[in-house]
Amino acid sequence: MGNGILAAMARGGFERVLALQDRRSGLRGYLAIHDTSVGPALGGVRRWAYRSEDQALRDCTRLARAMTLKCCLAGLDAGGAKTVLLDHPDVRWEEAYPYLGRVVEDLGGAVSCGPDVGTGERELGWLASETRHVTRPGARGPGRLSAATAEGVFRGMQAALEHLDGEADWERRRVVIQGLGAVGRRLAEQLLRAGARVAGCDLDPRRAEAVAEELGLELLDPARELGEACDVFAPCALGGILHDLSIPRLKARIVAGSANNPLARGDHADALHARGVLLVPDFVISAGALVRGARFHLDGRREPIGLIGERIGETVRGVLERAAAEGCPPQRTAEREAERLLEERRSGDLPARTLSRT
Ligand code: NAD
Repeated sequence: MGNGILAAMARGGFERVLALQDRRSGLRGYLAIHDTSVGPALGGVRRWAYRSEDQALRDCTRLARAMTLKCCLAGLDAGGAKTVLLDHPDVRWEEAYPYLGRVVEDLGGAVSCGPDVGTGERELGWLASETRHVTRPGARGPGRLSAATAEGVFRGMQAALEHLDGEADWERRRVVIQGLGAVGRRLAEQLLRAGARVAGCDLDPRRAEAVAEELGLELLDPARELGEACDVFAPCALGGILHDLSIPRLKARIVAGSANNPLARGDHADALHARGVLLVPDFVISAGALVRGARFHLDGRREPIGLIGERIGETVRGVLERAAAEGCPPQRTAEREAERLLEERRSGDLPARTLSRT
């Protein structure tokens, strides 16, 4: 089939991948649209200093496809997209984001953008100057996106503990959180409220100390967290942290966190399974913000966070039960289930829905 972008698109089932260049602002990047078969393709805008164009393109397509799978399992009438922008000191971002806004507007509602690494409220404001198709988490948008994610992770963890031991019994549990940012901090707060012992770390020492002081959690040196004996290890920082070297060091029974793509390679799901570690698939457990943002744009309502968490807990429970019955890693079961749902969507003759601003 070949190694070029068209072959990669055919393998991954993509609809469109746009290469972006704006001569005025210096913006360079990619916008990948994976699926619009039942509704708009939703996806954040990531700004990052990629080592190469290839790395940026791979990240863009991988994340867009993962968003579609997330939407399928969350039962949303939406698909996945992603924009990645190559960060560079020469780019004039206050012009670059409006340029991207015009590109998105020209797509006529097929794509809606949201926050991601490097794109916060300020950048979304620049985007919104040129397009209606943007999710802003603040008061003018769905709000409380990270809180929705943290709630989903908490309920997913609870489902995993119940799956293994019949009960969550938080007071007997120790949870280690990697990354005490927007999601990790809220998750820690919730776990402490439930009675769990919580330890955590962050690469940013000031943030780590502030959170530890505020919540009274045990602080770990970064890099020590993987080898800590605990019931649940919660990756809430960056992806790719579970690999050939880190997996043998893990002393957790369950891995459940918000980080997108925590596995360095797909077969690391099998390596964890072989060691008896229960990995809760990230694209099931971290869907809280997506559900809250999508419901706001698709239906104009702010879905209650408790309800979002409850549904994610139920979905996690279902995936873990099916995986146990099949004797395979939950990651594989969830991927197969999402692929099946995607095939169903694509073979059905469902009218595509476009976004309207509320
Ligand atoms: P954030 O940027 O607010 O926090 C991440 C924190 O992790 C930062 O404080 C950073 O210093 C720390 N960190 C980075 N690498 C680390 C390491 N190796 N060890 C320890 N700490 C490290 O991000 P966030 O919004 O809390 O999101 C966390 C993860 O969850 C990301 O992977 C994100 O893509 C994913 N996610 C977030 C949401 C959401 O609603 N915010 C939704 C879905 C998925």
